[in-house]
Amino acid sequence: MPSYSAPTADMQFILHDVLNATQSDISGYDELERDFTSAVLEEAGKLASDVLAPLNPVGDTEGCTLENGVVRTPTGFKDAFEKIKEGGWTALDCDPEYGGQGMPYLLGTAVGEIFVSANMAFNMYQGLTHGAYSAIHTHGTDDQKATYLPKMVSCDWTGTMNLTEPHCGTDLGLMRTKAEPQDDGTYKITGQKIFISAGDHDLSENVIHLVLAKIPGGPEGIKGVSLFIVPKFMVNEDGSLGDRNAVSVGKIEEKMGIHGNSTCVMNYDGATGYLLGTQHKGMRAMFTMMNEARLGVGLQGYAQAEAAYQNAVIYANDRLQGRDVTGAKNPDGPADPLIVHPDIRRSLMDQKSFVEGARALTFWGAMLIDKVRRSGDKEADGLISLLTPVIKGFQTDKGYECATAAQQVYGGHGYIEEWGMSQFVRDARIAMIYEGANGIQALDLVGRKLALDGGKHVMAFFEMVKSFIKENEGDERLDEFLAPLKAGSKDLQSAAMYFMAQGVKNPNNALAGSYDFMHLFGHVCLGLMWARMAKAAFGALDAGASDTQFYETKIATGRYYMARQMPATAMHLARITSGADPVMALDAENF
Ligand SMILES: Cc1cc2nc3c(=O)[nH]c(=O)nc-3n(C[C@H](O)[C@H](O)[C@H](O)COP(=O)(O)OP(=O)(O)OC[C@H]3O[C@@H](n4cnc5c(N)ncnc54)[C@H](O)[C@@H]3O)c2cc1C
Repeated sequence: MPSYSAPTADMQFILHDVLNATQSDISGYDELERDFTSAVLEEAGKLASDVLAPLNPVGDTEGCTLENGVVRTPTGFKDAFEKIKEGGWTALDCDPEYGGQGMPYLLGTAVGEIFVSANMAFNMYQGLTHGAYSAIHTHGTDDQKATYLPKMVSCDWTGTMNLTEPHCGTDLGLMRTKAEPQDDGTYKITGQKIFISAGDHDLSENVIHLVLAKIPGGPEGIKGVSLFIVPKFMVNEDGSLGDRNAVSVGKIEEKMGIHGNSTCVMNYDGATGYLLGTQHKGMRAMFTMMNEARLGVGLQGYAQAEAAYQNAVIYANDRLQGRDVTGAKNPDGPADPLIVHPDIRRSLMDQKSFVEGARALTFWGAMLIDKVRRSGDKEADGLISLLTPVIKGFQTDKGYECATAAQQVYGGHGYIEEWGMSQFVRDARIAMIYEGANGIQALDLVGRKLALDGGKHVMAFFEMVKSFIKENEGDERLDEFLAPLKAGSKDLQSAAMYFMAQGVKNPNNALAGSYDFMHLFGHVCLGLMWARMAKAAFGALDAGASDTQFYETKIATGRYYMARQMPATAMHLARITSGADPVMALDAENF
């Protein structure tokens, strides 16, 4: 069975050496003292290793079942959920007015990574509740907040997001679910939603569905979509639970991974719903949570890679196959361990350098979200909006690639279920699809985010990279980090210029290159993160840090990323500037 141990030292390094959290002027960050975050992460790590990780394969093999209209989660999930609730983990970064602990989202993100690595399917019950909590917190009336938030903060009631219908996923303007206004101000919701994560289960007393639907007579397409709160059980005036609402589970889907999370077809048969926010502005309400939700999925990408990587390292040290060509490392044994072989090293370094870079980028993204939430910082808002599709799309693609690479380290044993590596690959796969498929993230980046506010945010990003390079050019030790970062950033700028020049003439030139642009951008972001991490590691060594091995390992891992991954930016640029012609050359019937 795979094991998991929370990488708390790596997390502490990013929080304190790289992001210098306590020195930030973001309100509440002064609480993030090194000892405090260490205690929180260690505690979360214990829960993850002792309770959540052992349940991961149980969830995978048992899955969820639907019996007489009731969804049952796998053995042990209910007890584990109670432990998460009792520990106050669900309330960590929620508003104290509703029972939350008011901690920064950054800390919630670090803890989230630990839980997702240990058991992604399990953590989704809580994760989706957090998303629904944020929507009600941002758009709800005082009454709605008082009614739902305290119970959602504690996870006594969980939440869902209902967007997808059988005939519409990406193109939500095609939505058919309707919401008919009633005399008492409520709405009757009728329609079918599919693929609804945590749609029903036995972990909570109530499920609060957030449902997108169209009010008849409203604007056509996406502009006519509104958002509704539809509880599974009606809530009485005094907060107690009343009758069952007219919402039921049609079936639970059989799927490739995350078996421990129930993916439900939800039928709304005239269910009572309450408008959340403004009529016909449902998509806008959803979009305000998009940065957070997509960052959470980007986190799932590298968190699965982290868990898979940890096990690949253990296996590579245990499994004896072949000899080190430069001389036996295990002369008394029948062979050397796999880890002596350069190609195994290459694979492990690919995984390690991606995961640590992605963690830094995600934590930085969480910090930007805190800046927006806690001080309404407009520049941080623009920057995180720009980076969100990169974090979601690039990190889930690479996370899946790394989970597969970790599986490959096991050879044939990786393909056999009992080793658990196949689960990491299967679970990681969905993160590339939901919360906007990765192709759509690339379109969002190129079609919307690049030009946002007249291109101000992408220019600010380039400026940030440029000034980092300029500030650190005097430190020769950083040359091997700064040169590839500079080259990558130049490739990214050339690609952006190409889109500007070509996109207007022929939009397909931009669309055909959008996926490569997302990956090019991802590499530059991770290059920037590695340059910042290298600077922090040299700084710690200069300051006489006792754990020299830790910091030297950081620098060596960063060097690997710069030498072996950053050259990909030139390849992506070449693909982008080849334009749409090679992509669009065939008529549809010739495929
Ligand atoms: C396990 C699981 C859990 C899920 N959980 C939820 C949930 O909790 N709530 C919820 O509402 N939904 C959920 N979903 C649905 C998920 O978000 C959608 O499947 C996803 O948005 C894609 O929609 P679709 O499947 O209809 O694909 P389509 O929209 O049909 O897209 C198919 C492919 O075409 C591409 N494509 C579409 N349009 C364009 C375009 N204009 N240009 C270029 N490419 C395009 C897409 O990138 C995709 O690769 C879940 C799905 C799964 C499988």
